[in-house]
Amino acid sequence: MLETFENTLDPSDWNAFRLQGHRMLDDMIDYLKHLRDQPVWQPMPEEVRHSFQQALDDGYHDLEKAHAIFMKDVLPYALGNVHPGFMGWVHGGGTPVGMLAEILAAGLNANLGGRDQAPIEIEHQVVQWTRELFNFPETASGLFVTGTSMANLLGVLIARTALLGTDVRRKGITTNSQSLVAYTSASSHISITQAMDIAGFGSDALRTISIDEQHQMDMAALELAIAEDKKAGMVPFFIAATVGSVGVGAIDNLQAIAELCRRENIWFHIDGAYGALAMLAPDIAPRLQGIERADSIAFDFHKWGQVPYDAGFILVRNGKLHHNTFASPTAYLKREARGMAAGSPWPCDFGPDLSRGFRALKTWFTIKVYGEKKLGQVISNTCALAQYMKRRIETEPRLELLAPVALNIVCFRYRSTNANRVNADLVVALQESGIAAPSTTTINDQLAIRAAIVNHRTTTNDIDALINATLALGEIVATKAQS
Ligand SMILES: *Cc1c(COP(=O)(O)O)cnc(C)c1O
Repeated sequence: MLETFENTLDPSDWNAFRLQGHRMLDDMIDYLKHLRDQPVWQPMPEEVRHSFQQALDDGYHDLEKAHAIFMKDVLPYALGNVHPGFMGWVHGGGTPVGMLAEILAAGLNANLGGRDQAPIEIEHQVVQWTRELFNFPETASGLFVTGTSMANLLGVLIARTALLGTDVRRKGITTNSQSLVAYTSASSHISITQAMDIAGFGSDALRTISIDEQHQMDMAALELAIAEDKKAGMVPFFIAATVGSVGVGAIDNLQAIAELCRRENIWFHIDGAYGALAMLAPDIAPRLQGIERADSIAFDFHKWGQVPYDAGFILVRNGKLHHNTFASPTAYLKREARGMAAGSPWPCDFGPDLSRGFRALKTWFTIKVYGEKKLGQVISNTCALAQYMKRRIETEPRLELLAPVALNIVCFRYRSTNANRVNADLVVALQESGIAAPSTTTINDQLAIRAAIVNHRTTTNDIDALINATLALGEIVATKAQS
């Protein structure tokens, strides 16, 4: 039992609690310090899975005991994205500083929906830094959200309000006689499709534009699609360009899309989930030219920014429009000039969430402690590692590169008959080996081993380990497939 003080949930013995708290912190610091001694990932035994299916009152009400369960049954069976060998999907690695900031934020238990409090000034500070980073005007607004999936949805909703006016909030889009259509590339993230679905346009109103050999949105195909839609009486209102495509890390032609959007009066949204923060890296930022012309940018601090989950963000050029898309005055959220209800507008005026956690603090700590230069170096380094990996694949006859390496994602495969089956099995074998953890994607009907190098801890040793394990396990898997 955790002995509590009278009817509260606070401990009656703060000293014992302090000692236990220090043990828990020490365990996590040790965990981060010794990551390399652990497998990247390991399958969870069935008895562990079943241990989480107990009745509500299991009889144990004890902090030490709960901590012991966490250490034994949770920590070893996490996904492993903190591990330097993790290259699956696009996951951030987190940092020790981010972890500590989470403790501080949890201690404050701040609700960043609104009102006059320093935590909101921290969020405003981060908004200001992102404005500077993307060369956005002072009138631009920003908001922390869960992730880029949510930020993309907000982008669609704000673009809708830009075209139809705030009346759309009362009347809905169905009463409008115009058919609004949006555009994105074939390699864009599924959350763009979901955003069109959730916003009520339906995913059929999203045109999927083909990609060129660099995996960029084909501009001629885009212009043609817009012309055809206009001829058919539709109203193009939204283009989502991608900076860092989820499949291969491609960057759309932002300048050309910006020109087109201006000419056609279309909202220019950028899904820069992981790629937008390449603005921090001086050697890569020039390739994002045109990003400063976007109407809205959706991105994550929790991917390349290494901030612990979750920390998504949206930056909107027209802050007033952003506000008018979501603000909903009501008596219990009344604003005052002084007192705790001051400080309007509040973050809740810029999105669908009222209660909001303190995502800004771990982001503020990350930027404050490591600095933009160091964070940018980490981003550059992951791209350099991708080039190193590309060279290793090109010099290895049993491996084959399947896509250009624009940033930090490398798609390749083990050469074999029945290659799709073999490479799918090979990726599972790699994951189960605990040595390295890539994921898969499909490029031109070819199943690719996809290594996304996002983690700041990854080094050439980890790339070598992945390549060597791919060769060793590839042979075993390919032989097995033939027998
Ligand atoms: C990860 C990703 C998303 C989704 O972001 P979440 O933070 O997972 O919601 C959207 N677009 C791209 C290009 C991504 O890489």
